[in-house]
Amino acid sequence: MVGYSGKVLCDICEAAIPAQKLLRMPYSIENGVRRYEKPVCDAHECQRLFERKASIPEYLFRKQVEFHRSVIQGRTQACEEYKAKIAAKQSTQNDENREIALQMVVAESLDPTEFPVLALPTGPDKVSELTESRIAKYRKHLDTIVEKAFSVDAQEQIVTEAVPPSFKRHAKMEERKKKHQDIGVLNDQFCTTCKGGCCVSGNDHAYLSENTILRIRRANPDLEATDIVALYLDALDVNVMSSSCINHTAVGCALNRDLRSDICNQFFCEHIHAFSEQMIEDKSIVRGAIVVNRSQNLWDSENADESEIVATLVVTPQRIKVVNLD
Ligand code: SF4
Ligand code: SF4
Ligand SMILES: [Zn+2]
Repeated sequence: MVGYSGKVLCDICEAAIPAQKLLRMPYSIENGVRRYEKPVCDAHECQRLFERKASIPEYLFRKQVEFHRSVIQGRTQACEEYKAKIAAKQSTQNDENREIALQMVVAESLDPTEFPVLALPTGPDKVSELTESRIAKYRKHLDTIVEKAFSVDAQEQIVTEAVPPSFKRHAKMEERKKKHQDIGVLNDQFCTTCKGGCCVSGNDHAYLSENTILRIRRANPDLEATDIVALYLDALDVNVMSSSCINHTAVGCALNRDLRSDICNQFFCEHIHAFSEQMIEDKSIVRGAIVVNRSQNLWDSENADESEIVATLVVTPQRIKVVNLD
């Protein structure tokens, strides 16, 4: 089927089939026109329904296509509406951030080129007592990864392990830190204002894996499996941030850096990466940031729900100043 736009449409859901896919699809030429053997998109439902075409009566097939099309089109429309809501939210937030930046520049007599605005999420603000069931899940996870790390297979694996995908981003950040002495300390300041907006996804695994344990074993060859599990369990706090990583406490991560996973030690969110990149570009100019912390955590900030402003601050490598605007 060819749509008004000249694009080839899926016979089932009528979505445009990407040009790249068309290049791979078998076809014949009839009266100078391409006829694709299977003109359907990649959606599993479309593929499955098209395959049934030959085995069911034509009228029944058409009925099923109509029904399927209405479901898919409804879903696509809902998805587009949701994307538009997210875009509208981002646009409103950007306007608010700019407005706050203007007010802060006046209130604190700042040069806006020296203090760009940086919007950041925040971690949860409620504390709850760590439950036995969470500890049990964590212990089970620790037992599993420690057992793997003490097996011969795992030790061989670490030698051949591929470079993790996050490594390149981490390496870039390390390069930036070398080029601009303030980047490292400013990153830490920003994360302090956010209080672990990314840590909520740590749940009861804390991103720990057998590779973390292997790293600890290499540094401490005398440690037994039970010693390593005990190190992690002993580090737990009785009170943790609600709905977040088991190690997330009101004063930060309960684990020393050498016990954390590489993911935890190397991760910075896109906001921080973009800001440090800007610092490299404007090398001598940027001295700090006007930070706008919003109520959603890092992962929720990508949805369409409202995210209120919870703090406005001026952050430099030396200090974090809360500025209350009227
Ligand atoms: S990396 Fe980003 S989300 Fe995580 S604590 Fe720092 S500012 Fe917050
Ligand atoms: S282990 Fe620490 S750094 Fe890692 S997710 Fe949990 S609280 Fe955050
Ligand atoms: Zn389709």
